[in-house]
Amino acid sequence: NSDLILYVNFELVNSETKGRYIVKDALGQGTFGQVAKCWDLESNKYVAVKIIKNQPAYYQQAVVEFSILDMLNKKYDPDDKHHIVRILDYFVFHRHLCISFEMLGSNLYELIKMNHFKGLPLNIVQAFSKQILHALVVMKDAGIIHCDMKPENILISTRLKPPQIKVIDFGSACVEGRTVYSYIQSRYYRSPEVLLGYPYTTSIDMWSFGCIVAELFLGLPLFPGASEYDLLNRMTEILGGQPPDSLLRDAKNTSKFFKHVGSIHRSEHDGTSKGIISAYRILTEDEYESRESKKPAIGKHYFNYVKLDDIVANYPYRKNLSEKEKSKESLTRLALVDFLRGLVEFDPGKRWSPLQASGHPFVTGDPFELPYKPPPESPRIPVMPTTVTVDHNPGGGHW
Ligand code: ADP
Ligand code: MG
Repeated sequence: NSDLILYVNFELVNSETKGRYIVKDALGQGTFGQVAKCWDLESNKYVAVKIIKNQPAYYQQAVVEFSILDMLNKKYDPDDKHHIVRILDYFVFHRHLCISFEMLGSNLYELIKMNHFKGLPLNIVQAFSKQILHALVVMKDAGIIHCDMKPENILISTRLKPPQIKVIDFGSACVEGRTVYSYIQSRYYRSPEVLLGYPYTTSIDMWSFGCIVAELFLGLPLFPGASEYDLLNRMTEILGGQPPDSLLRDAKNTSKFFKHVGSIHRSEHDGTSKGIISAYRILTEDEYESRESKKPAIGKHYFNYVKLDDIVANYPYRKNLSEKEKSKESLTRLALVDFLRGLVEFDPGKRWSPLQASGHPFVTGDPFELPYKPPPESPRIPVMPTTVTVDHNPGGGHW
């Protein structure tokens, strides 16, 4: 594909050069390079072209992004049913690796912003949740961890009615069991195990997913931690409780945030309640400061309630809802809280898998009564290849 030439409509390149793509607009920027909206003369369609900086590290990461997405598209989602962005092509232009994607619309952060950070109607939150779960089911099956699930990386597809969303940006993705980086995920959406430095799996994406669903409803991030210390404090306050001792015992960064207080500490003292006995408690701000020799950044709190259940239940109703609609929504809100509880679950082993979450009444629309008990995870049945081939596909299987 390297003979393809990107025709640049700006004055950057000799405008005599004719090629396949005409750059029309800029769509986004990142550390990796730029994303341009291009007209594809071959397919007569708009495409999004990610132009990667001409530097080895970015090139390598782009190759990973391409191979992971190519595998997800072709092997796991050949019919484009699982809400994962389609990759179209790649080529080299002026020593820049370029990847073209199907053209999508606004991201969910922009949508929330357009809505003045007031949150989206629950039926939309429900529909988007269901679609994101589709993508997460496929990623888990393929053993792929996205590592950067957040509203900015979920785009609305304008082609389809009713609007559909797609997960994009596999630029940080990795293969489960072959995790190399420990500093991953955007802070607000960072899971407790990543924050604490504990081995992680696809379930870190489920934590982020929970944060996204809450944000779609609330219009503001659930855990807008100004620092990791602030983030952890917000999690414990909003959810009540803290990461399980088994995780704290083995995580690399526990001592950065927690004090070991022996095995018979009653956490009633610090308000984490329910008489849970833990060997650890979170450092006070002063303790943190003396250990780290700096004050932790603490952000503003903007919800009127502390606990998740109260924040959701008391969130102002949208205007022009009738009393009947309000009482119906109050029930759906109970389902939402129950749904969120299974996702923003401190213990990665207890956190619901995408398939388990897909059966929740909030997603299925079934009436919600009792707290949802997900069916047990079915053990993964290894699919044995009929012929043995050398597979260089990252994540192409675990046999
Ligand atoms: P980064 O690693 O910088 O986050 P992304 O892949 O998320 O890279 O792309 C950056 C931005 O470019 C996105 O947030 C989005 O606004 C825009 N963008 C990326 N892919 C597309 C696409 N297929 N269609 C439309 N816009 C896109
Ligand atoms: Mg992105």
